[in-house]
Amino acid sequence: MNEFKYKGNILYCEDVSILDIVKDYSTPFYLYSHRTIVDHFLKIKNAFSAIDPLICFSMKANSNLNICKALLNEGCGLDIVSGGELYKALKIGCPPSKIVYASVGKTEEEIETAIRKKIFSFNVESIPELIMIDTVARRLKTKPRVALRVNPDVKPDTHDYITTGTKEKKFGIDFKTAEDIFDNANKYSNVSIKGLHVHIGSQITDVEPFITSLKKVLDFVEKGNIGLEWLNIGGGFGIMYHDESAKTAEDFARAIIPILKARNLKIILEPGRFIVGSGGILVCKVLYVKTGVTGKNFAIIDAGMNDLIRPSLYKAYHEVLPVAKLDTTSLVYDVVGPICESGDYLALDRSLPKLSSGEYLAVMSAGAYGYTMASNYNSRPRPAEIMVIDGHVKIIRRAETYKNLIAGERIIKELK
Ligand SMILES: *Cc1c(COP(=O)(O)O)cnc(C)c1O
Repeated sequence: MNEFKYKGNILYCEDVSILDIVKDYSTPFYLYSHRTIVDHFLKIKNAFSAIDPLICFSMKANSNLNICKALLNEGCGLDIVSGGELYKALKIGCPPSKIVYASVGKTEEEIETAIRKKIFSFNVESIPELIMIDTVARRLKTKPRVALRVNPDVKPDTHDYITTGTKEKKFGIDFKTAEDIFDNANKYSNVSIKGLHVHIGSQITDVEPFITSLKKVLDFVEKGNIGLEWLNIGGGFGIMYHDESAKTAEDFARAIIPILKARNLKIILEPGRFIVGSGGILVCKVLYVKTGVTGKNFAIIDAGMNDLIRPSLYKAYHEVLPVAKLDTTSLVYDVVGPICESGDYLALDRSLPKLSSGEYLAVMSAGAYGYTMASNYNSRPRPAEIMVIDGHVKIIRRAETYKNLIAGERIIKELK
């Protein structure tokens, strides 16, 4: 289900006209469909029901408290990657038993807090980190659960920056080292190493890389006889931004379940993008239209790479649609932001109905890695986040103000 659709010439979010929303709220803003987000969670839950996994939504895809809370209300847990995400997860009442924590660089403070809060498990990415967790656990006289994050050296067909499971990347532990850790588990007597974790990257639209990596992991499990209790198979399920032949949750499940079934392991999933990606858009306004000397048309909009960095960072494709289809003649545009960088664009060479100042555009499938990667670059306040829920239009985060921009800064006395 995707709840961003045209009715006549007007783009709607669920049953609300986006033209009505822009009358009340100034652009740019992120707009989410509660129904779409919950529906995508349920799609994964239902597709994988045969193995009854714990599904931990990957908070870094979208950590708005309301969105995470909407998922918690459906029984979802959370996959965190920092102390800040732990703080937010606990703020909205996520049961610690449904929190898993990955990151190559957990600090001692972050580890201590997570142990004290009794999260389900740490996904450990190196021996020094394991030693740190063991040391903190000894001091706190507890025995936290850890999973070793293995790096299976599998290369999915996705952008290099979101490939994580190949041997030259910083993530995880190679199988040989993992074997040594299990063989010498008595060295780490203050932790319980009963899990394995694998996450090979993001926006993976094929089932093969998952199959290959899980087979490698299970070969390792069988060879080692390591007394495993749970296997966390990470996230990475890709969505359709453009012309990808993206898989459904059922496609992924059909490929993955047979490999895992009958192993008697508790399974954890960490989907992020799949749950929230298509459930959000970035709504913006055309400020100016200009034609360069080469004849290229630029639609200059009021949102930029500080609001949505994926096109600039990953050359990611986001569909751009007019909120109201006014003119039928179409022209080719670069849709660009106001930021002083040539890499500041949201879409290149797009055929769009002839645009003029004041028109509204929707940058589609911006619900994942959109707001969470937004910044104040060029001293631009970050945008609002709005959610349509049960026919209501709700602000779930105010737009920042200029005051917010300087909240942490003081003119020091030496400069007064
Ligand atoms: C980012 C991340 C995920 C989520 O990836 P998606 O592609 O958004 O599903 C899951 N697990 C870990 C460890 C991650 O770093």
